[in-house]
Amino acid sequence: MLPPWLILGGGIIGLEMGTVYSTLGARLDVVEMLDGLMQGADRDLVKIWQKMNAKRFDNIMLKTKTVSARALPEGIEVTFAPAEEGGTAPAPQVYDLVLQAVGRTPNGKKIAADKAGVAVTDRGFINVDIQMRTNVPHIFAIGDIVGQPMLAHKAVHEAHVAAEVIAGELQGNKELAAAAFNARVIPSVAYTDPEVAWVGLTEDQAKAQGIKVKKGLFPWTASGRAIANGRDEGVTKLLFDDSPEAHGHGKILGGGMVGTHAGDMIGEIALAIEMGADAVDIGKTIHPHPTLGESIGMAAEVAHGSCTDVPPARK
Ligand SMILES: Cc1cc2nc3c(=O)[nH]c(=O)nc-3n(C[C@H](O)[C@H](O)[C@H](O)COP(=O)(O)OP(=O)(O)OC[C@H]3O[C@@H](n4cnc5c(N)ncnc54)[C@H](O)[C@@H]3O)c2cc1C
Repeated sequence: MLPPWLILGGGIIGLEMGTVYSTLGARLDVVEMLDGLMQGADRDLVKIWQKMNAKRFDNIMLKTKTVSARALPEGIEVTFAPAEEGGTAPAPQVYDLVLQAVGRTPNGKKIAADKAGVAVTDRGFINVDIQMRTNVPHIFAIGDIVGQPMLAHKAVHEAHVAAEVIAGELQGNKELAAAAFNARVIPSVAYTDPEVAWVGLTEDQAKAQGIKVKKGLFPWTASGRAIANGRDEGVTKLLFDDSPEAHGHGKILGGGMVGTHAGDMIGEIALAIEMGADAVDIGKTIHPHPTLGESIGMAAEVAHGSCTDVPPARK
């Protein structure tokens, strides 16, 4: 049997890479400093992913950090320490390969931006305004270097804004020159199997921030398409504003999904948030049957109390 590989970091990238390599036959351990994998996503969604993926990993070491790695003839010996005081850590272990999936940092300090007068933060980011303009008015910045989330779809939208502002100013086109990055939300997707996708407010954030939300949860065990696909482990969850000011017609604040093709569908929830849709808007939008996307309409109906497709609650 091959020695196992270590995935350093239980975030999206580490788990995506882990999915690939375990599918190709690698045995994997994952080490993560925090108390759960795939931070950022709601725990109930991650729990479903974790159950489906339990066999991929020999060991998931949470609240654990790596402190050293040493090349030996038999492999890479990695030493661990507890991430929290009073915790315990596993004994050193020899790995065939260590895949580092932590510590992506912006390179603002390495590109001599300061020589052009551009201010760089201590952490290497470059601050910009909503037009993507740096402190030097004719220098713009976009992408990972301007801040979180470090995602390609955020970078592209920011780049469009910068290009429009520059073109508008050069052409004397006021409308173009007024372009600004004002997206309400930016979706996140873990391209694992199943996929996990979320956008806007999460249920965990709502709880932590004391925001009252009405939840619509649609289990894919009631989705004809998911059943036909043989992949009905998923759920679709929508969260609506349930504050007294919303008077029972709260707008959608966030949503998440775990399941196959979740990443392909999260854009609809992002659109609903951008357009300020409520549960009736989404539930009364006719989604084609049988599709996985139907689960979004049905989750909205669950929140509204009008869903006829949820299985009866178990007694
Ligand atoms: C393993 C991995 C998986 C990812 N998966 C996803 C995903 O599924 N979805 C997603 O949205 N995002 C993903 N990301 C993040 C995504 O790649 C970044 O958010 C995105 O590439 C940021 O774009 P950017 O233009 O800011 O930076 P980059 O894409 O890094 O582009 C910067 C470019 O500048 C070049 N450069 C750097 N310094 C200099 C210099 N001094 N002079 C000239 N050129 C220079 C670099 O070589 C690079 O080509 C992933 C990242 C990693 C590492």
